Amino acid sequence: MTAPAIGIDLGTTNSLAACVGSDGKPAAIRGADGEVIVPSCVSFAESGAAIVGRAARRRAVEDPRNTIFSVKRLMGKGIENLTEIERRLCPCEFVPAEGKLIKLRIRGREYTPQEISAMILREVADRASAALGETVTKAVITVPAYFDESQKQATMAAGKIAGLEVLRIVNEPTAAALAYGLDGLHDGVIAVYDLGGGTFDISILKIESGVFRVLATNGDASLGGDDFDRALMDLLIPLWEKAGGSRADLADPGIIQSLRQEAERAKIQLSSSATADILYERGSYPFRAAIAREDLEAAISPLFERSLGPCRRALADAELTIDRVDAVVLVGGATYTPLVRRRVEAFFNKKPYDALNPMEVVALGAAVQAKKLEGGFRNLLLLDVTPLSLGVETYGGAVDKVIARNTTIPARGKSEYTTFADNQTAIVFSIVQGERELAKDCRPLGQLILRGIPAMPAGMPRVEMNFHIDSDGLLTVTALERRSGAQAKVEIVPKHGLTLDEITRLVLEAAVNAKEDFRAARLATLRADAEFILKKLDAQMQRFGGRLDAQTRREIVEARDGLADAMRGESGDAIDGAHQYLEDVARVLVELTMDDAAASALRGKLV
Ligand code: ADP
Ligand code: MG
Repeated sequence: MTAPAIGIDLGTTNSLAACVGSDGKPAAIRGADGEVIVPSCVSFAESGAAIVGRAARRRAVEDPRNTIFSVKRLMGKGIENLTEIERRLCPCEFVPAEGKLIKLRIRGREYTPQEISAMILREVADRASAALGETVTKAVITVPAYFDESQKQATMAAGKIAGLEVLRIVNEPTAAALAYGLDGLHDGVIAVYDLGGGTFDISILKIESGVFRVLATNGDASLGGDDFDRALMDLLIPLWEKAGGSRADLADPGIIQSLRQEAERAKIQLSSSATADILYERGSYPFRAAIAREDLEAAISPLFERSLGPCRRALADAELTIDRVDAVVLVGGATYTPLVRRRVEAFFNKKPYDALNPMEVVALGAAVQAKKLEGGFRNLLLLDVTPLSLGVETYGGAVDKVIARNTTIPARGKSEYTTFADNQTAIVFSIVQGERELAKDCRPLGQLILRGIPAMPAGMPRVEMNFHIDSDGLLTVTALERRSGAQAKVEIVPKHGLTLDEITRLVLEAAVNAKEDFRAARLATLRADAEFILKKLDAQMQRFGGRLDAQTRREIVEARDGLADAMRGESGDAIDGAHQYLEDVARVLVELTMDDAAASALRGKLV
């Protein structure tokens, strides 16, 4: 039996899958470790095994240089158009490959961003297969509304490398609205406010009798929950120094990483409680502090403000005023933050929709779309628009726009050109994407060469260019010389994309890697990580166990035995889940370790 098609939200920070159940409702798929969310993180163990998800994120502390976050930012990009943030975020070396692709060198091997994304997709799909009891082969994958051709095609390629048939690439805000569409969102103008881990996107959609259209999109590619973590770290570092911590420690990426994870944990706690405790045991000095929600809010308020400029611009692009917005939908984990909820409500002057989990809503919508593509939800229609204009570079370097941005897709556009020299028999067309007037300021997508034009005086040939964007937003361009019938056609393989041959090769490699030895290497790594924490825990229990109440002690012992049990089994997910559970339960031991360190420091002073 094959599983139903699933929806996958391949996020910058987190990924997950959802599926429409027999009740006709989409639901997020839970893995064997009890979690829905798979952090979009891949860590390469010494053996070369790729560890994906939460276990990978944990390894970021011990092995930051071989642990990759935010690979989505690199999808479909060339080395020359990497921004400073993208370079800074990547702990490993970039290698230019054949002058067009980015590759990452990790533990002596090179990987394209597509391959690393494929590992995340594979993990998400495997968990879904295990949960559904059937092998998942088909998926709808979401991408940000602003993703251009190369980025969408890179995502398609990642799906293929992961062995999935990608039924459709859907944009995230549309998916979010679609999820609510089943749940009572009616016709009107919808603002989708998506604040994720590292990116902010605002999209203005219009729903009309079941037809979804994106009117405008805007955003900030370097604004998200990670910035909240950094703001919180900026509050913590002076406290840490006061407590005896040394700034020199902050040059250590492992220390920064663990401090960041502790800050994130506290930030999430502050979404539901008024204060959060920071417990930090690494570095030269253990450190403990309490942070109040007001402190966090004061620090992140200017960050929130930065999201409003793009909101205003998107509304202006859609030629709408705020009072024309009928509903606001919250998407992204950072919209759990109470300040964000309050201020979004104040800005739009409307209570936002938040009935669906903002971290799941995109995947839920993708699942609805997947079901629709398999013949379900017949009364649902879905139209999308192209986010950026598409055109041809003309003589002199200007851009002739053939399809304007925000045109509903599928779309077609046409334009006519001619030669500028006598007896010219070929023309090279450069296809570009973007809003700027000069081709050099736009994104080059590819070239189309029309040959076989019969010799004619300059200006005589009539070359008709046809652009076609299909329902996935993928572009095909054809050129036809009307007098002679000479023709050329390209499916735009973006400048920074993989060719079909390369994808096929990578699919084969991935299939080899998925073999038993690879699974064994992953298992070995997870066991080694677990062994490490067990040793540490046993030492802590010996010293401080006596100070715990019976109930807590029992919980820790049970969690410990749970992990030891899982280690004897063959399931990596079970080890990962038990490991995380033990870390959560044993937090109280970290607290005791610190109290002890503080007390001995105090004794030191008294002597
Ligand atoms: P992306 O779509 O970019 O992959 P997500 O939508 O999964 O990201 O959001 C991840 C961000 O949400 C992280 O910065 C995380 O710390 C933050 N986050 C998750 N839960 C909460 C919470 N309860 N309160 C505040 N922030 C949260
Ligand atoms: Mg997201």
